[in-house]
Amino acid sequence: MFSGSGAARFLTYLFINREPFSPAMGEEIFRDMEPFRIKMVEPIHLPSREDRERFLEEAGLNVFLIRGENILIDLLTDSGTGAMSDRQWAGLMMGDETYAGSRNFYNLEAAVRDILGFEYVLPCHQGRGAENVLHTALIKAGDVVPGNTHFDTTKAHIEHKKGRAIDCTIDEAADPYLDLPFKGNLDLKKLEDVYKQYGREKIPFTVVTATCNSGGGQPVSLENMRKVAELSGRYGIPVCLDGARFAENCYFIKKREKGMENMPIKDIARETAACFDMMTMSSKKDAIVNIGGFIATGSREIYDSVKNFGILFEGFVTYGGLAGRDLEAMARGLYEGIDEDYLTYRIGHVRYLGEKLRNMGMPVLWPPGGHAIYLDMKEFLPNIPQDQFPGMAFCAHLYLESGVRGVEIGTLLNGRDPDTGMNRPAKLELVRLTIPRRVYTHRHLDYVAKAVKKVWDMRDSIRGLELTEEPPVLRHFTARFKWVE
Ligand SMILES: *Cc1c(COP(=O)(O)O)cnc(C)c1O
Repeated sequence: MFSGSGAARFLTYLFINREPFSPAMGEEIFRDMEPFRIKMVEPIHLPSREDRERFLEEAGLNVFLIRGENILIDLLTDSGTGAMSDRQWAGLMMGDETYAGSRNFYNLEAAVRDILGFEYVLPCHQGRGAENVLHTALIKAGDVVPGNTHFDTTKAHIEHKKGRAIDCTIDEAADPYLDLPFKGNLDLKKLEDVYKQYGREKIPFTVVTATCNSGGGQPVSLENMRKVAELSGRYGIPVCLDGARFAENCYFIKKREKGMENMPIKDIARETAACFDMMTMSSKKDAIVNIGGFIATGSREIYDSVKNFGILFEGFVTYGGLAGRDLEAMARGLYEGIDEDYLTYRIGHVRYLGEKLRNMGMPVLWPPGGHAIYLDMKEFLPNIPQDQFPGMAFCAHLYLESGVRGVEIGTLLNGRDPDTGMNRPAKLELVRLTIPRRVYTHRHLDYVAKAVKKVWDMRDSIRGLELTEEPPVLRHFTARFKWVE
């Protein structure tokens, strides 16, 4: 729909979008601003152009390998990068470092029961720790795990257990400009086809990622989750929520789903969790902590099958690789993550950057995601083939021009086909500008928008990249490159 010129995109924008900061919406202006004040600051610094060139060269052109102190504004990830509140910091001082039975564990357990309704909670050091424990207990070689655009660590853990992830996202999600409210939804027909083909025997569970990180931070509707639960129930297949951003997903449900506008976020969280047999959580996202995660389930049987692997990989069942103080920060953060004033600001803040970039004619995946803005590299750098990693080339130039760090969500991240060894060209070739929680102001985002525009203006001179070093799993973290001649 917006594949035309920047001017056409801008005009379309004017006609179909409300301006969220128009003065007629006084209440909205208040609600979109930061619902906190700042009592501690951390200086940031822009290295000289010369130094940025050197840092990038030393990093093998992979911005992942640049030291954090040499980044001005870091939009690599929203994972563990949020600013904790004074209440959370105070909670750190209340850490009970008892090996077994720390009081902070019981506070976490109570928070999960209260917000999500899951009876059993197994803390893990982060989301992939939870995946490792759960997948080890449930997946055997040859199994398939259907879902909606599995997150990279989820897919890697499934493949590590010699299973296979099958993507059942709705086709519409592949159109980066189709303005739909729930582009994270699963296609029930695709899902049922997988159920029919493989059956309960080969499907240990289905995973629903909400919001869907690798699909552009797009939400999943409550209606869709209920239908997935109903269908899976008929086939006897358990369903797992990958709930790293469940709170942001709840906010989208409240704003976009018919009949949900008056339901408190906490109730929507309960309704969401009720669709699932279990959940893996990276608390580094919506629980706004720097480290932490958990598995939660209402099923004693599932809990019993995972807890021994929890002890083996993560630590005793009441700490899971975390200090007592971390558990306390997580228990408190879970409540802050579902606060509606916070979520209004959070989702509005991300949208602010998206609208700014779109107003300047940039190809922005639409609608904006919950935690990030995604730039469409197929439009941004159409002359760079996918196996020359246009997203990585963009990130390298964004850093050179501005000290801002983004991250490729495309063919590099997608990895290679385990059967053929070929690059898997990503359906959506994206760069993600991920917004940490409560860290950067709107003014920082203005700078980011200008930086992206600068790269846009020089896009014709940007070359592709060639791999010089490639690790076998999760290659995007440590791969190295040179410019294509
Ligand atoms: C971050 C993330 C994970 C993995 O969690 P970590 O805490 O980074 O190990 C899993 N799923 C989704 C959707 C995520 O965003």
